[in-house]
Amino acid sequence: MKDTDLFQLALGLSSPWTVTRSTFDADDGRLDLYVDFPRGSRFACPQCGGPGCAVHDTSDETWRHLDFFQHRALLHARVPRVACPDCGVRKAAVPWARAGSGFTLLFEAFVLALAKAMPIKNAARLVGEHDTRLWRIVSHYVWRGVERQDLSDVTRIAADETSARRGHDYISLFVDMAKRKVVYVAEGKDAGTVTEFADFLEAHGGARETVSDASIDMSAAFEAGIRQNFENAEITFDKFHVIKLANEAVDDVRRHEARNNFQIKGRRYIFLKNVDRLTQEEKEALSRLEAQNLDTTQAMQIRMNLQQLFKMDAKTARRFLARWNAWVQVSDLAPMKKLAKTIMSKADGVLRSIATGLSNGVMEAINANVQAAKRKAKGYRTKRNLKAIVYLTAGDVLQSLPT
Ligand SMILES: [Zn+2]
Repeated sequence: MKDTDLFQLALGLSSPWTVTRSTFDADDGRLDLYVDFPRGSRFACPQCGGPGCAVHDTSDETWRHLDFFQHRALLHARVPRVACPDCGVRKAAVPWARAGSGFTLLFEAFVLALAKAMPIKNAARLVGEHDTRLWRIVSHYVWRGVERQDLSDVTRIAADETSARRGHDYISLFVDMAKRKVVYVAEGKDAGTVTEFADFLEAHGGARETVSDASIDMSAAFEAGIRQNFENAEITFDKFHVIKLANEAVDDVRRHEARNNFQIKGRRYIFLKNVDRLTQEEKEALSRLEAQNLDTTQAMQIRMNLQQLFKMDAKTARRFLARWNAWVQVSDLAPMKKLAKTIMSKADGVLRSIATGLSNGVMEAINANVQAAKRKAKGYRTKRNLKAIVYLTAGDVLQSLPT
């Protein structure tokens, strides 16, 4: 077998394309593969698909292919422009790359696999390309996948918001609860993002009126957006969002108390983590603080009690919630009282999430994915890139990878 035959097989080329020549430069560490077609070959028109068009002229192009062991591999070919009787002169498609990409499909598939596993910056370093070129590949496939989504069977949704950069602007995520995947990402966190999602849903086979459940946080914006757009949707406030709100209230109490108590300063996380996840040193610090009967430890107990709610059946939970609220209201902790008031005003939605078990664990998992995505998108340059990474890690938009 000649080396050109071997490469021919490895590249999966079919007629009329053949590998005609290969050169290997050991000093440069690069392999060059030359692909060509015989004189008189005919190609389909890329516009109308009409077969058997004659070649009008050609232009030389180069693509980066998967490395050959540790060596950079480049594919060279003269790409024909065909003369179509209906469309005129058009550049033919080549089977190993998409138009306009300087990479073969296999190389692009490799980049996408890397992008799922590591920050783009690291992937760029690994393959020795500038990160903007990798972003371009990721963007192409992700946005194509986003547009190709079929959302016709979406009936139960969830929404969540997350900050795009530290403390700065927000993105809102919309989740198909059945598939446990992010299906839409909007910029901002107002009611308008829900309308944007509803329009997107309908443009992709879904319908506003078939959405029966929406699991959201307690922000007025999402609730208003859901009521405006999904009139048949029952709203639930899931555990993830309830506990998130409770954590914020605990943090309020702590911040206030830390102004007058140096022992709490720099100890933020021991009040936010679950006790079983603390180190020995942290546990000891926590029990020392507990002995002082601090506001923060009291707030934390209130939060932990609230967590018990999600282990009960719906009927017990309703009674428990009323007692919990009564207990919180006699405390001296304004942020906790406000929390309890908010939860009581949304009690039906909170208890519904217990009754249906709708979002158990889903939003936690999505959130963990999105936090990972944000870390991976570090240096993402544009918000569109951040959105692409969220789709890539928490969505299901790459059903058909290039091969
Ligand atoms: Zn044509």
